[in-house]
Amino acid sequence: MKLVLLGPPGVGKGTQATNVKEHFGIVHLSTGDILRGEVKANSELGQKAKSFMDAGKLVPDELLLKMMEIRLQQPDCEPGYLLDGFPRTIPQAEGLDNLLTGLGQNLAAVVSLTADEDELVKRLVLRGETSGRSDDTPKVIRDRQEVYRQQTEPLLEYYASTDLVKEVDGIGTIEEITQRILAVLN
Ligand code: AMP
Repeated sequence: MKLVLLGPPGVGKGTQATNVKEHFGIVHLSTGDILRGEVKANSELGQKAKSFMDAGKLVPDELLLKMMEIRLQQPDCEPGYLLDGFPRTIPQAEGLDNLLTGLGQNLAAVVSLTADEDELVKRLVLRGETSGRSDDTPKVIRDRQEVYRQQTEPLLEYYASTDLVKEVDGIGTIEEITQRILAVLN
């Protein structure tokens, strides 16, 4: 089961990804988490990514594609994976398609979690009070929503011709939303 989880910042992708990954016994690959790990480790990739992340901007496509090309070839990805936060641009989606073709793999679905933007900004401001994430400040939160609208939302159009997109209402309790996601996948 190879899945993509799409949705604006703050919609709860990380939380839902954890539940869905457990249900299917697949790995959860959050590019945000992987990049934050690289920043913490002060790796070459982390050093390159940090300033983009702190500004709420996207890290360049070629860095993401190189990182995911390596990651998707690890043996733990074979039974399946849930991509959380990737692809985030049309070039990344095209790059992912090429990677999948090379690996002889297909996506089972692109789950699109939806929610009202004002609600999300409120949630992220609250998260910022405890998360310690340098990009959870009101200004950067607004910028990340804008980046999502401009660069990531067009992916819905990109995938529309493939019949892969499953839209799921992202407002509700964690459990309700998990059940909605599992329902569209079965
Ligand atoms: P996230 O945890 O998914 O909200 O990601 C946090 C930050 O990491 C984003 O604001 C970007 O700076 C960076 N990032 C994560 N995934 C990607 C991606 N697929 N492409 C570019 N930048 C990314």
